[in-house]
Amino acid sequence: MRVPIIGGNWKMNKTINEAINTVEDLKTKLEGVEGVEIVIFPPFTALKMLQGLLQGSNIGLGAQNMYYEEKGAYTGEISPLMLQDVGCRYVILGHSERRGYFGETDELINKKLKTALSFEFTPVVCVGEKLEERKAGRATEIVEAQVRKCLQGIGPEEVKRVVIAYEPVWAIGTGETATPSQAGEMHRFIRKILKELYGEELANFIRIQYGGSVKPENIKGLMKEEDIDGALVGGASLNTESFAKIVKGSRRL
Ligand code: PEP
Repeated sequence: MRVPIIGGNWKMNKTINEAINTVEDLKTKLEGVEGVEIVIFPPFTALKMLQGLLQGSNIGLGAQNMYYEEKGAYTGEISPLMLQDVGCRYVILGHSERRGYFGETDELINKKLKTALSFEFTPVVCVGEKLEERKAGRATEIVEAQVRKCLQGIGPEEVKRVVIAYEPVWAIGTGETATPSQAGEMHRFIRKILKELYGEELANFIRIQYGGSVKPENIKGLMKEEDIDGALVGGASLNTESFAKIVKGSRRL
């Protein structure tokens, strides 16, 4: 049985003080909650401060992005060593905002993924089609290409640690969620590709999160789908009340 994973992607929000207040509150609201893996992805500036605050809690710490080199002349980038240094165990790779605004390609994401795995992070690899691609009936073709290219050269032992986040671009930050059956259908399709790549047992082990306007009101419906193993949450993760409700609503009871 796959343990659901809920990630809170804060994006470019919250100063250090705001981050501290959010985490203090979240720790109280989520104390003792079991049956779900909980991770927050704050901005880089808050990571060090939150490392200590989260110690001993049931909330993991992750970064929103990472470069694939350890160090060197890469102005503005952040390295796996630096993220390890501030206690990150998770990292989001290839978020659609990174792909869309900063030109990240599947090839780049694949390099980042290899580095992230070699540093023992749990990487969350984002895939998902744009609205025009879905309208043109190309959603599965696009997602299949992304999954295959991002996982190129990743061996069976390593892939166990990878989390895939299916995030249809048209549902991110738009308030428009994929219906449970739309999302469930794509998750089944992604698992089918994983079966082709790694065989049935491994494919059934890998977690596939859904992302795109997840809220307390829709999490339970999404989690009824067998192949949905949690959510990557943007907007609703900024508010502790809604994030805590999503976390609690994601447990398979
Ligand atoms: C995201 O940032 O990954 C996301 C899904 O955002 P939102 O929940 O705001 O749609």
